[in-house]
Amino acid sequence: MEKICVAVRVRPPVSSEPSNGTYWKVEDNRISLHKVHGTPISALSYAFDHVFDESCTNARVYELLTKDIIHAAVEGFNGTAFAYGQTSSGKTFTMNGSETDPGIIHRAVKDIFAKIQMISDREFLIRVSYMEIYNEEINDLFAVENQKLQIHESLERGIFVAGLREEIVSNAEQVLELIDSGEVNRHFGETNMNVRSSRSHTIFRMVIESKAKDTDSVGDHLSTDAIRVAVLNLVDLAGSERIAKTGAGGVRLKEGKHINKSLMVLGNVINKLSDGAKQRGHIPYRDSKLTRILQPALGGNAKTSIICTLAPEEVHIEETKGTLQFASRAKRITNCVQVNEILTDAALLKRQKLEIEELRKKLQGSHAEVLEQVILKLRNDLLKYELEREKLQMELEEERKSHRERDQCIQEQQMKIVDLSNPLTSSDFNPNSGQGQDSERQSLKEECNDSNIICHGDAFRTPCFKAAPKAFVVKRSDYSMLPDYSPLPDTFSNVADEDTWLKMNKGYIADLDSLQLTPARKVQSFPSSDATPTYSSKNHKQEVQHLKRQLLIATEERNELERKHAEQILLNHQLMDEISKIQQEAKLTQEIPKRLGESVECCKDIYEDVLSIIQSFVSDEESSTSKLVSSTSEIGITLFKTLETHFSMAMDDHSSFTGNNSLIQEQCKVLYEKLNSTITSLVLSQTPTVENEQLRPKRCSCENKGCTQDEETACWEEELSNELNTIKERYDSLEKELDFNNQLLVVSKERYDSLETEFQLLKEDRDHLHQMVSESSRKLALVADQKENVLKDLNTEVQRRKNLEEEIKQFSAAFASRQRSVVSFQNDVKSKCEKLRAQYLVSVPKSLGC
Ligand code: ADP
Ligand code: MG
Repeated sequence: MEKICVAVRVRPPVSSEPSNGTYWKVEDNRISLHKVHGTPISALSYAFDHVFDESCTNARVYELLTKDIIHAAVEGFNGTAFAYGQTSSGKTFTMNGSETDPGIIHRAVKDIFAKIQMISDREFLIRVSYMEIYNEEINDLFAVENQKLQIHESLERGIFVAGLREEIVSNAEQVLELIDSGEVNRHFGETNMNVRSSRSHTIFRMVIESKAKDTDSVGDHLSTDAIRVAVLNLVDLAGSERIAKTGAGGVRLKEGKHINKSLMVLGNVINKLSDGAKQRGHIPYRDSKLTRILQPALGGNAKTSIICTLAPEEVHIEETKGTLQFASRAKRITNCVQVNEILTDAALLKRQKLEIEELRKKLQGSHAEVLEQVILKLRNDLLKYELEREKLQMELEEERKSHRERDQCIQEQQMKIVDLSNPLTSSDFNPNSGQGQDSERQSLKEECNDSNIICHGDAFRTPCFKAAPKAFVVKRSDYSMLPDYSPLPDTFSNVADEDTWLKMNKGYIADLDSLQLTPARKVQSFPSSDATPTYSSKNHKQEVQHLKRQLLIATEERNELERKHAEQILLNHQLMDEISKIQQEAKLTQEIPKRLGESVECCKDIYEDVLSIIQSFVSDEESSTSKLVSSTSEIGITLFKTLETHFSMAMDDHSSFTGNNSLIQEQCKVLYEKLNSTITSLVLSQTPTVENEQLRPKRCSCENKGCTQDEETACWEEELSNELNTIKERYDSLEKELDFNNQLLVVSKERYDSLETEFQLLKEDRDHLHQMVSESSRKLALVADQKENVLKDLNTEVQRRKNLEEEIKQFSAAFASRQRSVVSFQNDVKSKCEKLRAQYLVSVPKSLGC
């Protein structure tokens, strides 16, 4: 039990006019009315927890009056701070403050977040709402469209305003911004007493939920699993007013009536509460919306502080007296404050056991009929539990089925991975490596078949999982059944839901209803203790390893191909060099006949010169010498012509040139014979003439002056024969040279042709290789890409799988605990039934007088 903390605050006087009769004097925690000359007026002296004079700041008020309540709210105690007083006495100033001196709300918000920051072992979720009660109607200040809201009460949530928007907040600035936006929607009005008079009661509410961060499985579940939910109300009441003073009429008058009525009800409630527990009787909370909403703060489970603001002016003395009386009565109210904890399964089980125990006690000594009824009820309960268990078992079956489906999907995916590896391993340009890769592929397939790995695209995705929020919301089954309750905004990243609750709470579910009602998550099943999931992260690791190996092989192959390609390019260059050399050689060889032709031309010129010189010595054209010369000239010219033809043919056409060689030789032979016969006939028919005589010294090279004509002829013959032999020799050598050159040419040509063919083949090979390399590189890049994607997918699936396993574990733990509780409950019921039967059997004979 805890008394309400009450303080009085006197605002600075509006005018500096001195008081004529009385004034309010503040001393420590006491306020009393004094006469101007200093004598106190008896019976008008009040003591409170705190009395703040006009110089007191909001900071001090917060520090002394509200801070403790705020801190207690962080620890799970409900808290309420409200300002009460006549209009213009400084309620709004105290709650909202000014720019230089922020009020209680501002300081409380800042303080709460600062305090949370310091608590490292708990997680918090804070929701805020802001409402006003205007003309006995509740309006949402965060959402103007939410008007005339209704008050509801439930076991789970207590008294709450249905449809009120609650914003999840994560920092003080966010809250203050929200308050500012709410302030705009608040009802103010001008009266004689306050140009900006609050015409409504406003309630700024913060719901602070928290949970210990680490749940020690060995520790005390009751304490560690509990979720603390504290509701903090910061209330700025509209001021009570005397219609005559405020000069209100019309709308203001209506407002004033409502304000006064609700404040009157508040006063009544305070009066009743201050009467003491025994005399209390009925407390009229329901008479006004204000008292209904503040019910937990007034005599309920809340730490409450009231600041009563006073206007010091003498003119307001009556109102001030009323406020002080209200404050005095409020001081007597005691609340029953306790931490609000929501219990988990373990705690509920304990509570159930206690209830059964209580029931058992009640049953002792009661009538047999009642006993029968109780037994019936217990049986019904038992049946209900049985049904529940069956339902869970069915869900389990469903989950197992879906597990099997997932297995199948994963196997399909594995096969896809293997297929992706195929184009690489079946590379046709490296047939030697095929065997090893085939075996590897095979082993991969076997691995895939062996393992029941579960990972599949869409089918495997965890349905509707939201990101784990920083904080959490306690999921209570009633919430989901209330469509008019302020929905949590979906856009909020830290929206907590059943999933989060499950995660945070490590599988402890508040009740089975909530589990079935969760819409976003379809819990399909969980494995039984003997049916552990076949898939493990080890398999995934192996698979990843295998894929890595495949990738390595593919990379090595690509490198090998690239190396081969480089070698081919080098070889190609070398061949090109060689070919160009041979081409130069061939060019030179082709020029040989031309050069030979030129030499023949040159020889022909010399020959013609020699012949013309000889002819110049021969005077008689009819002489035998002249005939010989002309015959020689004819033979020579024919010979040279033949040679010229021969060389020009050689230059024009290599193939025909080689074939004509024998023809030329034949021709030469004929010419040679012809020359011989001419010389012979010439020698035989030769008779010494005058010219011969004249010629003799000129023509005959013989030095002997006394030689005869026969001797001279012999000499001539010899000389001519020598000359012919020289020509013949020269011709032979030329012929040989020509033969040799021809052979060389043929060989060169053959080599050139073969090289040309080889070059073409190599070129084709190179092009083919080039094409293959680029093709395989493209394939490789594709496969690498696909593999990367598959690996990524695989990793995601592994993570998902882990999460799912974790959840399944949690769920099975919850199920096991539920099963245990059901079994123990069943046992209890059975034993109780038996006991009751036994008692019944004993009591019946007794009553029959046996
Ligand atoms: P209420 O909400 O009780 O009707 P207000 O808070 O609006 O009254 O106060 C009326 C006027 O008095 C405002 O202008 C306010 O700034 C001023 N006032 C009230 N209390 C104080 C104070 N403690 N110090 C300075 N000014 C104050
Ligand atoms: Mg006000």
